[in-house]
Amino acid sequence: MSDTIAAIATGKTVSAIGIVRISGPESLTAADSIFRAASGTKLKDFENRKLYNGEIVDDSGNIIDLCLCIVSRAPNSYTGEDTVEFHCHGSPVVLAEALQAVFKQGVRQARPGEFTKRAFLNGKMDLTQAEAVVDIIEAETPAAALNAAGQLRGAISLKMESIYNSLIDIMAHFHAVIDYPDEDIDEFKMSSYLETLQDIEKKLRRMLETHERSKVLREGIPTAIIGRPNTGKSSLLNALLGYERAIVTDIAGTTRDTVEEKVLIGNVLLRLIDTAGLRKTDDTIEKLGVDRTITAIDTAHLVLLVLDGSEPLKSEDYDALHSIAKDTPKIAVINKSDLPSVIDADELREFGPESCKVSALSGDGINRIEEKIQKMFPVFATSDSGEEYAYGELITNARQAEAISRALGSIHSAATALTASVTPDAVLTDIEAAISAIGEITGKVMREDIISKIFERFCVGK
Ligand code: GDP
Repeated sequence: MSDTIAAIATGKTVSAIGIVRISGPESLTAADSIFRAASGTKLKDFENRKLYNGEIVDDSGNIIDLCLCIVSRAPNSYTGEDTVEFHCHGSPVVLAEALQAVFKQGVRQARPGEFTKRAFLNGKMDLTQAEAVVDIIEAETPAAALNAAGQLRGAISLKMESIYNSLIDIMAHFHAVIDYPDEDIDEFKMSSYLETLQDIEKKLRRMLETHERSKVLREGIPTAIIGRPNTGKSSLLNALLGYERAIVTDIAGTTRDTVEEKVLIGNVLLRLIDTAGLRKTDDTIEKLGVDRTITAIDTAHLVLLVLDGSEPLKSEDYDALHSIAKDTPKIAVINKSDLPSVIDADELREFGPESCKVSALSGDGINRIEEKIQKMFPVFATSDSGEEYAYGELITNARQAEAISRALGSIHSAATALTASVTPDAVLTDIEAAISAIGEITGKVMREDIISKIFERFCVGK
């Protein structure tokens, strides 16, 4: 039986409410010793999941806080164990005192992720759901949070469960054939197994595809804003961010360093890098900036090339355009549309980038850039085969993607072996390898090293 643990489940800053959470067999006894309900009801008699008003006291009887208490008895709690939560005032000092009072009852500090680890070990969730807990807490965009919520509800678990069960079925039959060599698998069964394996292969391949796509969700898109000095790169960055972040001046070469900012455009998170400007220079510090600009362009997945629409294109504009790799998505932003325009959009068409007339100063046309970006990076739109992805279906987790890829390899060789009528034990070896990889994803097949690694990523109190 596990021991009883406690932690502050909420953030470390001052807030309206803060929660101290206790889980384990001694939760109710420990909490009962320090909580006095206003109604006089003993904590052990509290109804499940009902809030009781009262006060937490220290061992000298001093009131630490007036708070609410909620009891959830096993197995109907997050961890599957007896759990008590105190909803206190969100003062870090008060919460620390309340936690100390709990510790004095023989309860120990919870380690990072220990509540969720217990939930997993008690069968309240599988590993993909536990990983979704971290993802939802750390989500940087609403779309990432929605995807994590889908996985928390079991979007991946369900798929894996069905694949796992189909493979177990096939494995059982092959074992029977090996144990009783006289039992032959008839032709009809063979072809139905092959069909199942091919179907699983298709499903796994599709899941793996989503991992590539989910990069946009996980990491955002490294985006470089480039162009010669004074075209309005910093002004564009500010317009996209909606506030003054980069220094805007009309002295060429002011933005000497690169500035990185995150901005959410619809579902798409851009990691915008405003660069020092591309120009030939002898100034050592400015040269460093130009070098960094070149690195930013090379690593960018989207380049916004800013041009001054009020001036004819210059050789430096063409240099900037040519510095972008051919297959990097790019948009030519023809800025200063509030001034008379002398750039003809047709002049740019031959270079390929989509172009867009804007005024970074007035904000006019900024929404058109945003629309273009959303079209270029559809997060949940359609896969290459035209199918829709739903929230929760995007594999964002590298561990899961690696195991899916391993399972895919084994399924593929099992299907090939089956087609080539290789001996049953060869097929069986591949199927067992696939089962083990799928089992690792959900945690059905336990690997202590993997499990420890997963829960190390959590914060204390979760
Ligand atoms: P950067 O060197 O490319 O980062 O350019 P800045 O953003 O510092 O802008 C250079 C100058 O152009 C500043 O004086 C800006 O106010 C001006 N500027 C930027 N965008 C616009 C615009 O849309 N219209 C006009 N008229 N001026 C702009």
